[in-house]
Amino acid sequence: MSKFWSAFVHGLVPYVPGEQPKIANLVKLNTNENPYGPSPRALAAMQAELNDSLRLYPDPNSDLLKQAIADYYGIEKACVFVGNGSDEVLAHVFHGLLRHDKPILFPDITYSFYPVYCGLYGVASRQVPLTESFEIDLEQYPEDNGGIIFPNPNAPTGVPLPLSAIEALLRRNTESVVVVDEAYVDFGAETAVGLVARHPNLLVTQTLSKSRSLAGLRVGLAIGQPALIEALERIKNSFNSYPLGRMAIVGAAAAFVDRDHFGQTCRAVIESREALVVELDGLGFEVLPSAANFVFATLPGTDAGWLAQQLRERGVIVRHFRLPRIDQFLRITIGAPEQNAALVTALQAIVG
Ligand SMILES: *Cc1c(COP(=O)(O)O)cnc(C)c1O
Repeated sequence: MSKFWSAFVHGLVPYVPGEQPKIANLVKLNTNENPYGPSPRALAAMQAELNDSLRLYPDPNSDLLKQAIADYYGIEKACVFVGNGSDEVLAHVFHGLLRHDKPILFPDITYSFYPVYCGLYGVASRQVPLTESFEIDLEQYPEDNGGIIFPNPNAPTGVPLPLSAIEALLRRNTESVVVVDEAYVDFGAETAVGLVARHPNLLVTQTLSKSRSLAGLRVGLAIGQPALIEALERIKNSFNSYPLGRMAIVGAAAAFVDRDHFGQTCRAVIESREALVVELDGLGFEVLPSAANFVFATLPGTDAGWLAQQLRERGVIVRHFRLPRIDQFLRITIGAPEQNAALVTALQAIVG
């Protein structure tokens, strides 16, 4: 706190990201990073870009990357927006498409950045409770709203929604923007990108941080009809003309071109997830059905905060949220097989 702060800064409640520990050798299963490296083609593209051209500004429109994403999905480049991580894309979405008089709607248990953006941009909101079984029930979202946003699969539960439920929502809810945050969609849910052509109020956001293993590069995107994309471009060009550097543009574009690496690594994560669920079941955990690169699990009779602390003392870090309804759950990122084995060994030592 300081007398130099604006009143606005005093009122902010910032997001707290998962810990990035400075200690080596931890089994890091707390921030949903990919255990496998990025595409070798992405790395080669970035290495080739490491030259004198860095003295020049990058393409402010990131056209090379937008075209690679458009080619990947078979859509027009005018339907693609890119930004410095999908968190930045989401910030522009809240500012440019969700800030109206009526409150926006999102689940009571969801990505905890949404309420932070509401605070930053003065967006009124209403939280709609998940069902008893921790599912999003879109039928509970009233039509009179300033917009709707939810992740699919949801975070931190990992539970996916079928595309049919999203389509039904879009048929009912035509007067405000519906944002589907697909940060984890590539690990087993269905993308809503195919619905964009038919629904002018649908915006889909994605990130290269999870399924494309480029969390360190900071690239995210949005897909929607050109009128929605134009709103995001107007905000971006009033904020930062160059959110993506030269490395990010070429690296992210190559990551979209390399479908083989993407497919192989996503399949490996999904297989490990299914194997870990079996192990956790065997230890007595209840695990919500996950289509993400993490599982959300509770061990009846054992305090989740204590368990997270015990794991940490054994060099394994997972995420525990001290929030209503979920304070007895742990969110565990799917690691490489040896990391998952280390987690299971530690759990056996603690509760086995
Ligand atoms: C990780 C995550 C993001 C942000 O991803 P970045 O592109 O790394 O900023 C957005 N939404 C959800 C639900 C996430 O879990």
